[in-house]
Amino acid sequence: RVSDVLPLSALPVWTPSGQSAGEACYQVNEVLNSKISLFRGDITKLEVDGIVNAANKTLLGGGGVDGAIHRGAGPLLKKECATLGGCETGQAKITGAYGLPAKYVIHTVGPIAQGAVGDREREALCNCYRNCLDTATQNQLRTVAFPCISTGVYGYPPDQAVDVALTTVRKYLEKHHAKLDRVIFCVFLKSDEDLYQARLPVYFPQG
Ligand code: ADP
Repeated sequence: RVSDVLPLSALPVWTPSGQSAGEACYQVNEVLNSKISLFRGDITKLEVDGIVNAANKTLLGGGGVDGAIHRGAGPLLKKECATLGGCETGQAKITGAYGLPAKYVIHTVGPIAQGAVGDREREALCNCYRNCLDTATQNQLRTVAFPCISTGVYGYPPDQAVDVALTTVRKYLEKHHAKLDRVIFCVFLKSDEDLYQARLPVYFPQG
């Protein structure tokens, strides 16, 4: 349940460089912080409006989080996915969630990095987060959970992916926070939880 995923609290004070500190900045951070959560566990269990699937271009299922989502949703998900004509890297497509507690699944295809990350991969990963959020808001979804896109089989270094995820979501929320109630970073591994705990205060500072 969304209500079980607690908002972040007790983040250290941070003064953004090149931005005027003070009341206005504090208010922005307070609004944005209240909409961000970190949850460690299985994304298929989350009762939210939309869960994001780190899919492949076929959208017909695979391993990792994709496999877990298709197993949980049941065969009707694959049937709907088969009508979508696949998905390009960085793009997003929405389907029903069938047997899952979420209302919708937003499928996105992350870049294949295999250790080497350049501007192209970085931009593609940015596009994944931004296009998923656009797809969510265009469909009136107010709570969205993201897995760590591309950091499994696709080999994007998790310590670099976390910054792409956080900066893209922060920028999106600055413009569109009125359209979203909560964005949940759903990490699966302890190592990713540690990375998010360390980096969240940089992008969603208190004060
Ligand atoms: P990709 O092909 O985009 O790399 P993977 O599914 O291989 O996708 O991995 C993406 C992330 O999803 C990894 O951090 C992996 O640990 C995580 N993951 C795997 N299963 C689940 C799940 N059930 N819920 C949430 N995250 C998961």
